[in-house]
Amino acid sequence: MRIVVLGPPGSGKGTRAKIIGEVYKLPVIATGDMLREAVANGTEMGKLADIYMKRGELVKDDIVIGIVKERLKRPDVKDGFVLDGFPRNLPQAQALDTILKEIGVEIDAVLNVIASADTIVGRLSLRSICPTCGAIYHIKDKPPKKLGICDVCGETLIQREDDKNEIINHRLKVYEEQTYPILERYDKMGKTREISGELGFDEIKDEIKRVLNDLT
Ligand code: AMP
Repeated sequence: MRIVVLGPPGSGKGTRAKIIGEVYKLPVIATGDMLREAVANGTEMGKLADIYMKRGELVKDDIVIGIVKERLKRPDVKDGFVLDGFPRNLPQAQALDTILKEIGVEIDAVLNVIASADTIVGRLSLRSICPTCGAIYHIKDKPPKKLGICDVCGETLIQREDDKNEIINHRLKVYEEQTYPILERYDKMGKTREISGELGFDEIKDEIKRVLNDLT
């Protein structure tokens, strides 16, 4: 199964992508996580990406497409994958088509995560993440067992720099202008399916199974 998860920042797309990966035993390819890792490691690419990420803008296409292309060549994606946060604009969607054609596979479904503006802002301002393993927490809805510490790996949790209020609005605008239009493209291909970004943690799994049922 090959799935793309799309949705505005704070819609819960990352959480859903991780759950799909767990349920169907698929690797999750999250470009945001990969870029944050490059930033944390201080690589040349990370230094460049950091400039755009801090401002809430998209990192240059050639960088992101290069990362995804490399990742999709690895053997663990042979039986499927979940793409979280890629493609994010039309050139990336076209590049993905080309990469997949070369490998001889197709995307089965593009999940569009729908959430209200109130949910998005509430979620981003109360979100913390683990800089090491990428686990996502929410002060109210999904707090870690020990305040400020990752349940999975014991690392100290951080707030993403781009989750600060002044950057959130810009990221939402970028989504509307650049990412939202690619949904129309996948719609025409008959690939899009809507899922709710509003459900509680326990209900997410059931909805995902219902929506992806016919692809397994
Ligand atoms: P995310 O974790 O998906 O919210 O992504 C965080 C940030 O990483 C975005 O605001 C962008 O700056 C960058 N990013 C992630 N994925 C992409 C992509 N496909 N294209 C360009 N920039 C990206």
